[in-house]
Amino acid sequence: MRRKLIAGNWKMNTTISESIELIEEIKSKISNLEIKSEILICPPFVNIVAAVANTKNSGISVGAQNCEYRINGAYTGEVSAPMLFEAGCQYVIIGHSERRTLYGETDVIVNQKLKTVLSYKMTPILCIGENLDERNQNKTFDILKTQILGAYKNLSNDEISETVIAYEPVWAIGTGVSATNEQAAEAHRWIRTCLKEEFGDRASNIRILYGGSMNDANCEGLLSQEDIDGGLIGGASLKAASFVKIIMTAEKFQ
Ligand code: PEP
Repeated sequence: MRRKLIAGNWKMNTTISESIELIEEIKSKISNLEIKSEILICPPFVNIVAAVANTKNSGISVGAQNCEYRINGAYTGEVSAPMLFEAGCQYVIIGHSERRTLYGETDVIVNQKLKTVLSYKMTPILCIGENLDERNQNKTFDILKTQILGAYKNLSNDEISETVIAYEPVWAIGTGVSATNEQAAEAHRWIRTCLKEEFGDRASNIRILYGGSMNDANCEGLLSQEDIDGGLIGGASLKAASFVKIIMTAEKFQ
């Protein structure tokens, strides 16, 4: 049984005080409930320490949105895995499409980052997904395979089984146009089969989240799909009411 994971990617939104306000609102809505799903928020780096302090004993985990693969040194502006670990991060999003397209992250870099994050006992959330041209040219599964094999290169099957994947079609991120339930289900099924063929049973049982304009209105259809184990949510995670509604919907399929 894979426990559902509902993860908020706050991107470059919220100051420290705004992040504390949002956390308090989320907490107030879930404090009397017994939630079985795992809840994760990924605020900007500078908010992480405050987020960890303010989520203590709340059932909410904190993660980062990115991480440098080198451990320390002259890399101005970067944040390393030991820094995130000591700050209290349990997860790190790796290879988000915005990192790939805006900051030139390749599968080779994604692979290095996965290794580093795993070595610091945090869980990487590996983001993969095709863009619209690739989908229109029927290249979706080729792209996903290249990203999966590139990201997991030289990782053991045990290490792979410690990761989470987020399938995020690039055309659905931040556009308000989610994949349909059928499109998402098809891609998730394909990813699970690919993992099984390449890395074996245990690795094929990792959690695969859907990301791309998931919101409180469309989450039920997506989260009810057999191979969708949760969501990576951008815009809708910035409003406590919609984020909690998604969490409560995930509970139905737990
Ligand atoms: C994301 O940033 O990973 C994401 C899925 O964003 P949105 O939900 O806003 O499409």
